Amino acid sequence: MEKKILFIYNPNSGRELIREYLSYIVETFNEAGYDVTVKPTQYGGQAREIAKAHADDYAIIACSGGDGTLNEVLGGVYLAGSKTPVGYIPTGSTNDFANTHKIHQDVLKAANRIVRGRTKEIDLGLFNGKPFDYVAAFGLFTNIAYDTPHDLKSVMGHSAYFLEIMRSFADMKEVLIKCELEDGEIIEDYYIIGLMSNSNYIGGMQFFMDDELALDDGEMEFTLIKKGNDPVQFGNIIRALMENTQNKNVVRRKTSKVRISFENVIPWTLDGEYGGSVKYVDLEVVKKAVKIIV
Ligand SMILES: [Mg+2]
Repeated sequence: MEKKILFIYNPNSGRELIREYLSYIVETFNEAGYDVTVKPTQYGGQAREIAKAHADDYAIIACSGGDGTLNEVLGGVYLAGSKTPVGYIPTGSTNDFANTHKIHQDVLKAANRIVRGRTKEIDLGLFNGKPFDYVAAFGLFTNIAYDTPHDLKSVMGHSAYFLEIMRSFADMKEVLIKCELEDGEIIEDYYIIGLMSNSNYIGGMQFFMDDELALDDGEMEFTLIKKGNDPVQFGNIIRALMENTQNKNVVRRKTSKVRISFENVIPWTLDGEYGGSVKYVDLEVVKKAVKIIV
């Protein structure tokens, strides 16, 4: 039987690199003995639909686009209850996932790896049942994901994110939240940002060193950040986040489950895209939920 690979790509991602390379990618897969089916996406959410509908029809589901496209494909394969390995050619502007998992940012090398690499299992998170692969967040990154114009993100990459962070921090309001963690701990206080993450890189910046995290242990990093009262405290918060040191304005936990409630609905981001505005959130980690090729 001929091996089959499904290649889903977002033609509008990042610098539209993929159009240029499409025939080389198909040839790379062909030369490795795969029959290739190509599906460009036409609207948001379509990559998830395609992956979910066809997860078990192929030996490999390959995809290309930014973190949002990958979110859809991994989520679709997971929701189909499939363990078909997912290969990824990153072409987005931040590529947090690719940086964390050491996936080539060179299109041809990444394509080659998909048919010659090894598979590994990774955890996924669920945000009120919706899958995310590396971060669910309220506060900072939510604003950045929408407010940074698409063109600016493409041209400037992660520095656009960083500028937005600096600019938006000052305007942000702390919100009262209540969190109940898996082990029974309750945290109730005012914070500007909350994150459930399974990633070394978030918003284009490295927050955890390579050997600091297990990405398949059934737990994620839960982080809450207070605003701080002045630029000095703000600087210290950023440093504590980047260097993983103690700071009274930063709460960090490792957990597999958190229930969060807010006083009002709050917008969230899932893997850098808008994830919905909610008053109650159940965050859960599914251990080794999907297989990726690295
Ligand atoms: Mg983990």
